[in-house]
Amino acid sequence: MANVVRKDINRPVSLWHEKELFNGTENCLTIILRTKGCYWDRCLMCGYLRDADRRVEIENLKNQLDFALSRYDMDFGILKIFTSGSFFDEREIPEKFREYVYENMLNSGFRKLIVESRPEFIKKEKISFPSNLTLEVGIGLETANDFIREYCINKGFKFENYVNAVSVLKEEKAGVKTYLLLKPPFLSEREAIEDMIDSARAIADYTDVVSLNLMNIPSGTYLERLWKWKLYRPPWLWSAVKVLKEIRQIGLEVISDPIAAGKKRGPHNCGKCDESVAESIKNFSLSQNIEEFDGLRCDCIHLWRKVLELEDFSRIPLVR
Ligand SMILES: [Zn+2]
Repeated sequence: MANVVRKDINRPVSLWHEKELFNGTENCLTIILRTKGCYWDRCLMCGYLRDADRRVEIENLKNQLDFALSRYDMDFGILKIFTSGSFFDEREIPEKFREYVYENMLNSGFRKLIVESRPEFIKKEKISFPSNLTLEVGIGLETANDFIREYCINKGFKFENYVNAVSVLKEEKAGVKTYLLLKPPFLSEREAIEDMIDSARAIADYTDVVSLNLMNIPSGTYLERLWKWKLYRPPWLWSAVKVLKEIRQIGLEVISDPIAAGKKRGPHNCGKCDESVAESIKNFSLSQNIEEFDGLRCDCIHLWRKVLELEDFSRIPLVR
């Protein structure tokens, strides 16, 4: 294995601040905690286990959080804690640490916490949180289609598991953010778009927010193999724009952070327009106004339209 760097288990994997929507826009502190890692670890595109470390115990988690909370001299309203796994999985995040988070964030002036979890850990007794805190839980549903989730992602749960988790969250007055994944492997570009729009319709009554993840290719994954063999191409940014517009028109709040946009391993168009399209996706995520996309022009849109037409027949990417 290349890249054998001894990890510091008392520091988060990463840490940054950004703007988020919450009664207008607010400062948000995002912490990627280093944990023992996601127990599932079988998704075809997941490279997160590289960040995990089996030595992490509750004291290390507390040190990571303390470090993060003292890092910036800014007023924050929102705290995002991601573990690249599940915040409510006891093996990764012990209950005592969850309580430590709630107490310390409230003392530091945060009012909203955003975390992520697989649905099997979202149980009434696990998710209890202080009433003066707003909790939002992100669930990586990826698609509402059980066949695609099983055979193109290997996610290991069904739509009905998601629905049950959502009903627990609603009962406890927690918000629900649903991650959808644009373009799992084995789908044509057009099928990938259609899958996202169908999925958004299926979850419209369950979710408060949709977060559209645009596939990028982490190293060491099965997806990377497919990509190297030229059997996979990340989605076009034009596809992302189309999906975001359509989901917004269903009436849902939808956000997207175009990670690695314009790179070969990330969502991309022709190379000339990537930056401006990615910028409009970021602006749209904050404004929720589809007019953000109105000024976008590039000749590669004609090539993208051809791809939508032909990839259903070729079944392999026609353009890199
Ligand atoms: Zn272009």
